[in-house]
Amino acid sequence: MIGPKMALKIRQSKNYLRLVYFAPIVLIVCTVAILTSLSVRDTLRSLGDSYAESYSRIVLNVSMENKSALVAPQQCGFLQQVLRYEREILEMQIVSNNQIVCSSFGEVGTREIVDIETLGNESQIFQLAAMPMSKKDLSVAVINRRNLNGQEYYAVSLIDLDYLRASLGYRTDYRVSSSALFIGEDSAPYNTPRASGWFAYVAQTDIPQHQIQVIASNELIIEKTWFYSLAAIPGTLAVYIGFFFIRRHFIRNQGFHNEVKQAIRRKEFILHYQPQMDCNTGELSGVEALVRWMHPERGLIYPDVFIPVLEEFDLIDQLTDIVVERAISDFSSYSFSQPFHLGINFPPGYFVSSDKQRLLIEQAALLRERGIHLGLEITERQLLDSSAKSAIASLRQSGLEVLIDDFGTGQTSLAMLETTPIDYLKIDKCFVDSIGSQSATAPVLDAIISMAKGLDLNIITEGVEEQNQADYLVSRGVYIHQGYLYSKPVPFESLALPVK
Ligand code: C2E
Ligand code: CA
Ligand code: CA
Repeated sequence: MIGPKMALKIRQSKNYLRLVYFAPIVLIVCTVAILTSLSVRDTLRSLGDSYAESYSRIVLNVSMENKSALVAPQQCGFLQQVLRYEREILEMQIVSNNQIVCSSFGEVGTREIVDIETLGNESQIFQLAAMPMSKKDLSVAVINRRNLNGQEYYAVSLIDLDYLRASLGYRTDYRVSSSALFIGEDSAPYNTPRASGWFAYVAQTDIPQHQIQVIASNELIIEKTWFYSLAAIPGTLAVYIGFFFIRRHFIRNQGFHNEVKQAIRRKEFILHYQPQMDCNTGELSGVEALVRWMHPERGLIYPDVFIPVLEEFDLIDQLTDIVVERAISDFSSYSFSQPFHLGINFPPGYFVSSDKQRLLIEQAALLRERGIHLGLEITERQLLDSSAKSAIASLRQSGLEVLIDDFGTGQTSLAMLETTPIDYLKIDKCFVDSIGSQSATAPVLDAIISMAKGLDLNIITEGVEEQNQADYLVSRGVYIHQGYLYSKPVPFESLALPVK
């Protein structure tokens, strides 16, 4: 009975299991977020760097214009003519003796671009200067100086703000929400804070202390998020399809496992027996017990379907207990004058329990009293395990017969056969199938037969289906045959047992 505490635990564990379904979503959301951030950052970096490059070029060009103007600073008319269609420069002023002596605008002395008093000795100065219309509209003033005949001349040029903004992507590129120029502590637009974070980037220009900051627009972030989310759809689908199949497999297996478990509890297994003929005498020399599941709804189920599930869920020993019990009960009222062989398939690991060993020895002794020789059909795999091997050896010493099943298909080393005492080799059907298929002889089968004889082992051949196979085996001195030629596995009642 499942108590309320246990029920709660089961419910909780189911809830945890459900959480597993969200794991891929979390993983994919994180991956999309990371890829989006990296890609936005990358776009910002390339935009910022290209703006910085344009900025450096503009300042250099303006400085060149300044220098040209300083070649003949007194020729104001010529200067005005030259600069009339200049895109980069809004206004150029020639300053001498703390006075504006020429302006590209023509209205000399109306307004200073920079504070003339502060002009120093540096040959090239950059500073942020207020635009004529607003104090908050700042642009870059490029100043060059020249001494001509003992007279100081300054060319002071204000870069056209719209041109500068366009070159820095401000309001022109949808990917940038804002960009700003920093010269030391100052900034344009005025008082722009320095942004930090993943979606802001500061590019260094060729001029020391001049930096350009770009901040990603929401459109760019949304565009990248969509791109990576759409790209993640096939991957997400693949993960969930995988999940779906794993879950279905798990539920099916779990369901089947529960059914098999119940079948063991209810002992829904029956035995069929496949006769083993002695071709010398033409009589039945023994049988192999083969289990079947009598499913209440689906009918007879063959062992290949349920044995792997029983092995997976560690229920195979319980099935073997049922098989041994059934076989002993089927033969309980039979005695044989000639030794009668009863083969049962044992799973690896069954003999490790000393209780099971003892019980088998007792039951085998009782069967022997009635002429029935219990044979343990084991596979080659079991002989590799040293504890199983020693258990098998001690069972054999106590009078049980040991058969190596499916011989030739596993991993038995021939040396092992010499050192491991056994009674029978059951030669697998695949070797019997080779009879008459390619040539008149079956060389591997012949080699196995002569080796078994050399080691003084009895032989049973499995899967004999054709008369020519039986004849070939008899011609090689192999007399005990099991196969559809003689009989399929049948219910106990259908066996033609020699003596009752
Ligand atoms: P196995 O021990 O090699 O059993 C022989 C299998 O070959 C049986 O299949 C049998 O029906 C089949 N067979 C016999 N003669 C012929 C033939 O002439 N032609 C063909 N095509 N097949 C033939 P089955 O009964 O379906 O058993 C399959 C396997 O299931 C067995 O192979 C054995 O490994 C396992 N098994 C069966 N019963 C038990 C059991 O009680 N316990 C355990 N642990 N395993 C069992
Ligand atoms: Ca077998
Ligand atoms: Ca076999």
